[in-house]
Amino acid sequence: MDAKKLAYYRQKLLEKQMSLASMVQRTEGYSREKEPDIQDVADMAVESYTKEFNFGKSSGDRHVLQLIREALERMENKTYGTCVHCENPIQPKRLDAVPWTQHCLGCQALLEKGLLDNNEG
Ligand SMILES: [Zn+2]
Repeated sequence: MDAKKLAYYRQKLLEKQMSLASMVQRTEGYSREKEPDIQDVADMAVESYTKEFNFGKSSGDRHVLQLIREALERMENKTYGTCVHCENPIQPKRLDAVPWTQHCLGCQALLEKGLLDNNEG
């Protein structure tokens, strides 16, 4: 992959990383917060519903954050843009849509069917 293209994907990754990091930080900070002055039970019910919702969302975001970190590492190692399974180049369209992906289209399809022997799941 040429340096220009690499810089382009790197920028995309960093932007996504930044927006996810602030989102995860916000939801996690929020659920950790102790709120001694909650006024009444109704508020508390809403509170706990929101926390559950945010928890599910933030664990998905954290997974993507992890994938972004790994993609940036692969950039350092000059293996970015290569499928971690079959080592073929990942389709540019796929990288445009999901720049942190580890797999080419074929391997991703197998992975989703549970047919790919890959511990990274
Ligand atoms: Zn592959």
